Amino acid sequence: MRVIEPHIHMVSRTTDDYARMARMGVVACAEPAFWAGYDRLSPEAFRDYFHHISAFEPTRAAQHLIDHYCWICINPKEAEDVAFSREVIAFIPEFLDRPNVLGIGEIGLNKNTRNEMTIFEEQVELALKHGQLILIHTPHLDDKLKGVRMMVDYLKGHGGVDPERVLIDHMEEHTMGIVREAGFWTGMTIYPVSKNSPARAVDSLERFGFDRVMVNSAGDWGPSGPEAVHHTIFEMRRRGHRPEDIETVFYNNPCTFMGQCPKFKPQPTRSREEARGDGARGGTRTRTA
Ligand SMILES: [Zn+2]
Repeated sequence: MRVIEPHIHMVSRTTDDYARMARMGVVACAEPAFWAGYDRLSPEAFRDYFHHISAFEPTRAAQHLIDHYCWICINPKEAEDVAFSREVIAFIPEFLDRPNVLGIGEIGLNKNTRNEMTIFEEQVELALKHGQLILIHTPHLDDKLKGVRMMVDYLKGHGGVDPERVLIDHMEEHTMGIVREAGFWTGMTIYPVSKNSPARAVDSLERFGFDRVMVNSAGDWGPSGPEAVHHTIFEMRRRGHRPEDIETVFYNNPCTFMGQCPKFKPQPTRSREEARGDGARGGTRTRTA
């Protein structure tokens, strides 16, 4: 089965990770702009970073037959300084036409501050102005529910945001429902020491269904790794889920969401309507394996 890794920070990974991903069936990955493990010393440092993820990483991935895509933004961890952030936002449009750039992300909240919210809102406007998809990061642990509510309320009240073109990531059991009911796409991140485990993520898939959801490893500077997605695939297989439902979550859904950007090349093997039509909603386990 072909697999898409919809959220991974390859800038922090070795070339061996690309090789492992390729051997595990990954044919495409998407790299949101985020923190570099330290706060950048100047806005101009982001220009080099955006060049790195939109020009260098695609060449590294291509050596392993993986299509590399990316998202551009100032991330919420470095968005507290509004003036600094605006200097970065000013040159983001220069990168939006690059062949692997899918949209604006991962924007969002880190500590749910007023300044972070200001920069979040300005980047939503930037995305709308340039017709871009949006990828949203949500805060960790205790702050997550509050941050999710702040952003969902803002986006619902905005009037100009199409939820089909927005993916809200790092969802857990207590936030999935809010985001899905509002019509947005959802992502779940599998980490070895925090966020979801493979079993918790599969519990959520069974509870909320397989539509408008994808799973990622978010491999980055902390304890993490690209195999997390594949542990989750194995957990679905172990519980007897149908191969076509596994393909919906790990290949077709990322294709359908990211495919709204015409630059995204992989094509789904079947549409959302077809997947829904055959009763693949999650919630029940169909033992075929
Ligand atoms: Zn990330």
